[in-house]
Amino acid sequence: MSAALVALTATSDVIQGTRRVRVNDAYVHALERAGLVPVVLPPLENVRQAARVLAAVSGLVLSGGEDVDPALYGAAPSPALGTVHARRDAWELALVHAARDASVPTLAICRGIQVVNVALGGTLVQDIPSERPGALAHEAGTARAARAHDIEVEPGSRLASALGATRLAVNSFHHQSVDRPAPRLRITARSDDGIVEGLETDRHDPWYAVGVQWHPEDLVDTEEPWDRQLFATFAGRL
Ligand code: MN
Repeated sequence: MSAALVALTATSDVIQGTRRVRVNDAYVHALERAGLVPVVLPPLENVRQAARVLAAVSGLVLSGGEDVDPALYGAAPSPALGTVHARRDAWELALVHAARDASVPTLAICRGIQVVNVALGGTLVQDIPSERPGALAHEAGTARAARAHDIEVEPGSRLASALGATRLAVNSFHHQSVDRPAPRLRITARSDDGIVEGLETDRHDPWYAVGVQWHPEDLVDTEEPWDRQLFATFAGRL
């Protein structure tokens, strides 16, 4: 059997004076290690191309990045809001709608879990330190592969089954998080301070969609098997 193609979203920003498309190489490594072929997908202006792109691949991986524009979920911007990327927001929302409509298996990472939630009608915490005082340090500033805090995963959920665990430690590089989940989505993982770390479609939903707030792509070479299994399970759905 040949390796399945997966669309891997990317951002665009200015590096060394030139606007470029980029995505962290760790996603490429994690997907290739899981037996998949990532096809890097830049933010396109023409959102009508989303369904066509997804028709050409077996799965969708939404990568990390900028804050989602709060206007997209009806909130005024917090003073602590970070960089937003309007073209990327519009493109990735269209991708989520197209993935839902065609039941394309979707793995949503960091910004990705937020994009999926907003696309389907949920809301976000714009800035954890100012809106959830007393929460853990989720913008940990540690090495990419350092497991910074624990999470609790709902037994029997897609996420628990993919990870092979209901309690595990994850890395953490985010100041935003899911607040109210969209109607079709369920929160299935939280850190001990209540911050949402995992979200998914119900096990009986024909659309396989799993979102994680951490960065499993940076953890596939660690001793613990959880993050490798997350990618392997996704690969098994394609
Ligand atoms: Mn976290």
